[in-house]
Amino acid sequence: MAHIFCTALPAAPLQSGWNGDPEGWPQTAMLRWRVGADAGGEIWAPEHRRSYGGVAMATILERYVELHPASQQLHGRARRVFPDGVTHDMRYVQPFPIAVERAAGSRKWDIDGHEIVDFVMGHGALLLGHAHPAVTEAVAAQLARGTHYGASHELEVRWGELVQRVVPSVEHLRFTSSGTEATMMALRLARAHTGREKVLRLRDHFHGWNDSVTGQPPAEETLPRSPGLPHGILDASIVVPQNDIAALDRTMRESGGEIAAMIFEATGLHWGTEPIAVTYVRRARELTREHGVVLIFDEVITGFRVAAGGAQAAYGITPDMTTMAKIVAGGLPGGCVGGQARIVDRIAMRQDASERIAHPGTFNANPLSAAAGSACLAVIENGVPQQQASATARTLAQRLNAVFREEGVAGAVYGQASMLHIALGLREQPDDGYGWGWHAMPQRPPAVPGRAASALRRGMLNEGVDLMASGMMVSAVHTEADVDRTEEALRRTLRAMRAERLIDNGVA
Ligand code: PMP
Repeated sequence: MAHIFCTALPAAPLQSGWNGDPEGWPQTAMLRWRVGADAGGEIWAPEHRRSYGGVAMATILERYVELHPASQQLHGRARRVFPDGVTHDMRYVQPFPIAVERAAGSRKWDIDGHEIVDFVMGHGALLLGHAHPAVTEAVAAQLARGTHYGASHELEVRWGELVQRVVPSVEHLRFTSSGTEATMMALRLARAHTGREKVLRLRDHFHGWNDSVTGQPPAEETLPRSPGLPHGILDASIVVPQNDIAALDRTMRESGGEIAAMIFEATGLHWGTEPIAVTYVRRARELTREHGVVLIFDEVITGFRVAAGGAQAAYGITPDMTTMAKIVAGGLPGGCVGGQARIVDRIAMRQDASERIAHPGTFNANPLSAAAGSACLAVIENGVPQQQASATARTLAQRLNAVFREEGVAGAVYGQASMLHIALGLREQPDDGYGWGWHAMPQRPPAVPGRAASALRRGMLNEGVDLMASGMMVSAVHTEADVDRTEEALRRTLRAMRAERLIDNGVA
C-alpha cells in the first residue's frame, strides 16, 4: 500500500489519551469527528498520525476507510440488495458511501458519528436547509390528517396557486412525483401540441432518466449511448452543443419544421458546470418562436433558487413551458410541469379521447408533498432566502479560490446564484472570485482523472464536508462557520492530494 510523508501539514491538536505512538492510534470507531461549537473548533482525526514527524501516514482512502467503519459495514448489507449497494447513481462513492442518520440546518450526521457540513442538500431540494421548522410543522400537521385521500384537496390548490404566483409564465400546471416525470410530460405535451416528433436538446444537459432525454449520440452519429433505449428515440433527438449560435441557427433552418420542443437546463449543463450564455438563450427564444417550436426551460434545479421566479425571472426571458421539482416540493418527492394553458390543457378531458394526454399518477399532488411544498414556497416567495444563499455562495467561492491560489494548485471555484462548482486544473479563476454571471466561461473546465475527482470527494468527507459530486448546493442556512470549515477542509484535502501526487500545479 502506498504510504506518504506529509510533514508539511500543520500539526493538529493532540487528542487526550493518545500516547503519541502512531500504531497505537485509537480505534476510529471510538473517535467522534466533530465540527462546530461543541467541538470547540478542535478537529479530532487521524491528522495526528500525519503530523507525527516523518512517520508513514494514511492516504486519503485509508483515512476514509478508517473513519467510517459503520458505513462500510452497512454497505456490505446494501450490496446484497441494490446494484452497487446504492439507490442513486450520485451516491456511488468508492469503496463505499457514507450512511447518514439525521440532518438539521446545514449539517448532517453519519452513522459513525461525524458531523458533516452538507452541500448536497437533498440533491438541491433544500434551499431552506434540513428540517426547516415551517416545512416540518406543515408536514407533521398533515401527517396527522392522513397521507393520501385519493381525492382533490385544498392544499394542492394552494400549492398550485403559489407556483402560478411565483412563476408568472405558468398559466396552468400539473404536479408530478419527480423531475423525470415532469420533463417526460413536458415533451409529450409539446409533441402533441405541435404534431411534430423531434426534440432538440443541448449536449450533456441533464433532464432525468426518461427515454426522451436519456440517450445522446456520442459524437454526431445516432447510436444510443444508453443501452435499453429504442433506436427511434434517438432518431427523434437532435443534440447540439451549448452556446453555439451558428449550430442552432443551422439546425432550426434545416429542421425547425420537424422539431416539437427545445429543452435545456436553464443556467447551462449540469446546473451551470458550464454556464449557458444569456445571448444564446435569447437567440433560442427568438428561433423557437419563429419556427413554432415549444421552448421548455428545465428549472428542476434552478427553479425557486436562482431567484424566486427561477432563471427565467433572472434573465427576463419567458419560456413556453417550465419543468420544476426539488425545491417546489420543499424536500419531499414532487415535481411540476407548467406553462401556457393552451399547451398544458392537452391533459384536459375532451370528447375525442385520442386527442388528449392521460395524466394519472398515484402520488400526484399528494397531501404530504403539497404541505411541504406550499410551506416552503410561502417562505421563499419574497426572494430573501435566495439572496442569503447566493451571498454565502459568493463568499465561499471567493474563499475557496484563495485556497487554490495560496496552495499553488491549479483550480477554480465558480458558480451562479447558490450553485458552485470546483474545477481542479482550471487555470482561470473568475475575476470577482465567484463566477461569470450569465455568460459563457472563457475556457472549458479540463477533464479531471477519476482518481483525482474521487480523492477530492473522499478527502472532503474525511474533513467533514459532503460535496455534490464536485459541486456545492448552498442553502439559506449555511453559516460563516460552515464557510470557515469548508475552507479549511479544502486546504487540508488539497495538501493530502498533493502528497499523494494526485495534483500539482495542475492535475496529475
Ligand atoms: N432535470 C434536471 C435539470 C435535474 O437536475 C434533474 C435531477 N437532478 C432532473 C431533471 C430529474 O429530476 P428527478 O431526480 O426529480 O427525477
